[in-house]
Amino acid sequence: MTAPTIPELSIVIPMKDEQDGLASLFFRLLPTLRSLGRSFEVVCVNDGSHDNTVTGLVGLQRAHPEIVIVDLSRNFGKEAALTAGIQHARGNAVIPLDADLQDPPEIIPEMTAKWDSGAEVVIAVRSKRETDSAFKRWTASAFYRTINQMSEVSIPNNAGDFRLMSRPVVNALLSLPERNRFNKGLFAWLGFRTEVVYYERPKRELGTSKWAYRRLWSFAVDGITAFSSLPIRIWTYVGLAFAAFALIYGGVMIFRALILDNIDVPGYASLMVAILFSSGVILTGLGVIGEYVSRIYIEVKGRPLYVVRTVIRAETSAQRR
Ligand code: UDP
Ligand code: MG
Repeated sequence: MTAPTIPELSIVIPMKDEQDGLASLFFRLLPTLRSLGRSFEVVCVNDGSHDNTVTGLVGLQRAHPEIVIVDLSRNFGKEAALTAGIQHARGNAVIPLDADLQDPPEIIPEMTAKWDSGAEVVIAVRSKRETDSAFKRWTASAFYRTINQMSEVSIPNNAGDFRLMSRPVVNALLSLPERNRFNKGLFAWLGFRTEVVYYERPKRELGTSKWAYRRLWSFAVDGITAFSSLPIRIWTYVGLAFAAFALIYGGVMIFRALILDNIDVPGYASLMVAILFSSGVILTGLGVIGEYVSRIYIEVKGRPLYVVRTVIRAETSAQRR
């Protein structure tokens, strides 16, 4: 295989069951990229699709050798798939993109223009979120308010993974060793000279969102535990508050018993409430500690984030044919 020439721009697209959207995606993406007059590659990561996403991609690759297919051995989730794609991207700038056209490719030229004028990161920010349901918008904004209050880096609410990152930023991102990859947080943590372009996020073109609320919840817990240790530290203060209260209460009881000679035996209700409440608090605290410990366990095992079945580049598939 001859050494491949390094493209200027890499688009990275994680894909899970996106066969129906492939044609319209590339129909809009490729002309936009060609209009830039730069060399590019489109790294498509197949994240364990159950449909014919890979076959579709291989077919498209015959006509468009810029397509690189990274086929994962199973579904590893969007964050891992995105990382796999970014790791295989060779371009001087990398832009992650959703396959469902919710990140309109048409604003890529604006992003590269800002990159040309010196930006190292160009974030695409949604100017409106009206296409999401009211509940999703509410949960999202509650999540960002919480995480931004708890963590040192500020993670913008209306920005997704759609952004341009120049090579130094990509290398810095890839050098972060953690397995729990909360990309939005990692992006924000990295810093660099950042510019913003605005766009309106359209509805998903085809298919449905692959994010069930249960998954969004664990995504939120990942984000918070990765970027804040407040939840685990707060138990010290909760415990201290309880101890202080118990001390005062104990003092009052002793005072009543010794000085006022007032001993009440029927204390069943107050005893029960105290026991139930404090054990509830203790269990919650243990649960939070468990969340952190399980993540430490995952980090310590050091398993790879994803497993690649094959990488299909136009040159290698030509060799195989
Ligand atoms: N995706 C993926 N693996 C998954 C779930 C999603 O690679 O396990 C991809 C999906 O194909 C799409 C992108 O991640 O390209 C965003 O997914 P989706 O549109 O379902 O998420 P949403 O827009 O609702 O956040
Ligand atoms: Mg989507």
